[in-house]
Amino acid sequence: MAGDTTFAGSIPEIYDRYLVPLIFEPYARDLALRLSAFAPADILEVAAGTGVVTRAMAALIPDARIVASDLNQPMLDRAAHVMGPGANVTWRQADALALPFDDGSFDAVVCQFGAMFFPDKVQAYREARRVLKPGGRFVFNVWDAISSNDFADAVTQALTKIFPNDPPLFMARTPHGYHDSALIRVQLGEAGFAAIDIDTVEERSRAPSPRDVAIAYCQGTPLRNEIEARCPGGLEGATQAASVELARRFGEGSVEGCISAHVIRARRAMRPIVRGINLDPETRCAHWHSPLDVVAIKMKCCGAYYACRDCHDALAGHAAEVWPEAEWNQPAVLCGVCSHEMSVRDYLDCENRCPHCGAGFNPGCRHHYHLYFAQDSQG
Ligand SMILES: [Zn+2]
Ligand SMILES: [Zn+2]
Ligand SMILES: [Zn+2]
Repeated sequence: MAGDTTFAGSIPEIYDRYLVPLIFEPYARDLALRLSAFAPADILEVAAGTGVVTRAMAALIPDARIVASDLNQPMLDRAAHVMGPGANVTWRQADALALPFDDGSFDAVVCQFGAMFFPDKVQAYREARRVLKPGGRFVFNVWDAISSNDFADAVTQALTKIFPNDPPLFMARTPHGYHDSALIRVQLGEAGFAAIDIDTVEERSRAPSPRDVAIAYCQGTPLRNEIEARCPGGLEGATQAASVELARRFGEGSVEGCISAHVIRARRAMRPIVRGINLDPETRCAHWHSPLDVVAIKMKCCGAYYACRDCHDALAGHAAEVWPEAEWNQPAVLCGVCSHEMSVRDYLDCENRCPHCGAGFNPGCRHHYHLYFAQDSQG
C-alpha cells in the first residue's frame, strides 16, 4: 500500500506532538543508550521521522557525527525545525533501499520503527551493511504484534466498528505487521549480518487523556488517509469514536497502556575469513607475498575467500570455478589491508589501488585474472 508510507500534510506535526511522546520517546532513549555503549563516531539514522532518536543520540553521544535520513522530506523538515541549529546533525532525504552513501562510511546504522515500512527488507539490510565499516553495528527496533500494544489495538477495533466492511487496518498491517523474530533473523543473515541479538522490550504508554491517544493514531499516522478515503469529512467522528472506546477501556483522564517492541542488534562481520597457506594478516600467502600482494578473492565455486588460486587448489578439495562476467557485480574481492570488500567489476576498474584505503595492489595480478574471472567468450 503506497499510502502506508505517506506522512505528509498535517500528519508530521500531529505525529510529533501526540504520537512521539506517547510511544516513541521511551524506545528512542533505549536505542540511544544501546548505541552510546560503544561510542560510535559516525552514525547514520535511517527513517529518522521527526527526529526523536536523533535528539536522544545528540544528547547522549554528543561527540558523534550524525547523518539523519528519511524518505519523507516533510518529516525531516519538522525534525530540523524541532532540533534547531548547532547540533552535529546533517539532515538528508534518502531511500533506505538505495542509500546515497559510500561503502564503509559509518560505525553504526540506527533505525527506529522504520523497518516495517521497507518494501524490501533484505535490500534495506544489505544497504545498511554496505555503508557500515567492518565490525560496525546495526541497531533497530520494530513493534511487537498489535495484541501486545493496548492503544493501537483499541483504536483499530473502534474503527473496525465504524467501517465493518472495509476496516482501516494500517496499524495492524504495517507498524504492527513485522514482528516475527525468526523471520527478521533470517533476513538479516541473508543480508550478511552476524551476531544477531533480539530483545523484547515492554514499556508503558501514557497520555493526558483518551482523546490525545485518539488524535495521535487517527490524525498523526497514515490511518488518517485511510479514514478520509472511506469517509471524506469523517475524521473528527472517527477520532471521537476511538476516544470513546479508549475511555471505556482505560478510563477518563490520564490513561496508561502496555506497549511492546523487539529491539535488534546485528553486526557487520569484522572481515570475512580468508584461507591460505602461510597466510599473513594482510592476506599474503606462500605463493604471493610481495608488499603489494594484499588482495584475497572469493571463489565462485565455494563462496570462500582464498589468498590465491593455488591456495584454493591446495586446500579446497574441489575444482575451482571462475566468475562469469554476468556476476561481476558480486562482492568477491577483499582488500587485506582495510577489509574493504569490492565487486569484481570495482576491483578490475580500481587501477591497482584500494578504493577505500588507497593501499596499492600488485599490477602483475592482471596476468592471472582468467584464473578467477571469466571474460565473455567473445572477449
Ligand atoms: Zn572453491
Ligand atoms: Zn596462495
Ligand atoms: Zn583497502
